[in-house]
Amino acid sequence: MKQVAILGATGSIGASALDVVARHPQRFRASVLAAYRSVDALVALCVRFKPDLAIIADPACEPALREKLGSAGLATRAASGSAALTEAATGDLCDTVVAAIVGAAGLESTLAAARAGKRLLLANKEAVVMAGPLLLEALRAGGGPIIPIDSEHNAIFQCLPSNPSNQGHHSDLTAAGVQRILLTASGGPFLGKRRDELGAITPDQACAHPNWSMGRKISVDSATLMNKGLEVIEAHWLFGARADQIEVVVHPQSIVHSLVEYADGSVLAQLGNPDMRTALAHALAWPQRIEAGVAPLDLLKLGQLNFQAPDRETFRCLDLAYAALAAGGTAPAILNAANEVAVAAFLEQSLPFLAIAELIEQTLAAIPATPVINLESLIYADLTARQQARRIMQRSFC
Ligand code: NAD
Ligand code: MG
Repeated sequence: MKQVAILGATGSIGASALDVVARHPQRFRASVLAAYRSVDALVALCVRFKPDLAIIADPACEPALREKLGSAGLATRAASGSAALTEAATGDLCDTVVAAIVGAAGLESTLAAARAGKRLLLANKEAVVMAGPLLLEALRAGGGPIIPIDSEHNAIFQCLPSNPSNQGHHSDLTAAGVQRILLTASGGPFLGKRRDELGAITPDQACAHPNWSMGRKISVDSATLMNKGLEVIEAHWLFGARADQIEVVVHPQSIVHSLVEYADGSVLAQLGNPDMRTALAHALAWPQRIEAGVAPLDLLKLGQLNFQAPDRETFRCLDLAYAALAAGGTAPAILNAANEVAVAAFLEQSLPFLAIAELIEQTLAAIPATPVINLESLIYADLTARQQARRIMQRSFC
């Protein structure tokens, strides 16, 4: 029986993870559930899953959480704050951690779970983008497996020969005969649109993804193609692929989740309906296979699968991410921080859609990248980039 901590339990990935857990009560138990501020949603999950511990990240919400758990007659303990998240990710209550907090807020608990040798199911791509070298080091120290949840990286993991990332070590792609990684992208809700059609985009339009139902931050990232940019950096760290070995291919149906090209000309792909429960079931049970509740793929009904090049002129975030990867050091953390500030402002309707890329570009230009030394220096780089992005936003876009 695996004891599973779900950090970000009230989110979209959290819901998919809990759906798979609920299908296999003899294999998995949700022992820790954590959320940001949504006390009622967290208590509802506690009523259903009866975890040992419920964590609300915002300490101001802890009294309400404790009271509501009590009046529901639950034995679940209540805790709050980022230290409680880190403790839960490293402590005895779990052997598996689903890292499904959105954004830099998930960094410390993700690194802590890796260092503690937990089985790490990684959805929180921002953590690996920010702290790739630190995550690899933590995985080496902890010795536990990392299994990507991001559908593309989960697909690549499935297509690589011996699951080289399973112990968190850099794989030698060349020795494995791997030539390239082909990351598929849906293209998002604005596929085929030109820049002059994107001036007045609203948050709801940006969040209306054609194939996936996801949290609002990643939905906006999908609309700008920054999501794919973050995923290029994620693939670099998780699989040891150079930037020039990672190619982005737009595939509007989101059926081929990614591909691996080998030296002999073979290309292996993983296919399936766009439902995150496949990746979660794969990662929870790996190396076994279990039922996920996902409808079987009906290729005859689909008829065709299409592929095209990304429009890098209209969706400039993709190249900004490649540039940050090439710059190295803290550049990806700066890119991520500026993107988080820009997306939050766009969702609050205080920044136009097209200004997201501009704000990120100007923030990257304003702050020199430095080597990633440790967590403290990285958090400092993240804060500095956020401040800089806000200053540029005030000056140029408000
Ligand atoms: P979401 O917004 O639906 O859920 C986010 C979760 O994180 C919620 O439970 C929320 O309470 C929690 N959270 C937010 N801020 C927090 C904070 N400061 N401290 C602690 N907890 C906090 O997001 P999501 O779509 O589930 O995405 C989660 C992560 O998974 C993101 O990194 C995203 O890029 C990645 N991901 C998501 C999908 C998807 O299909 N949704 C696919 C691939 C990768
Ligand atoms: Mg993805």
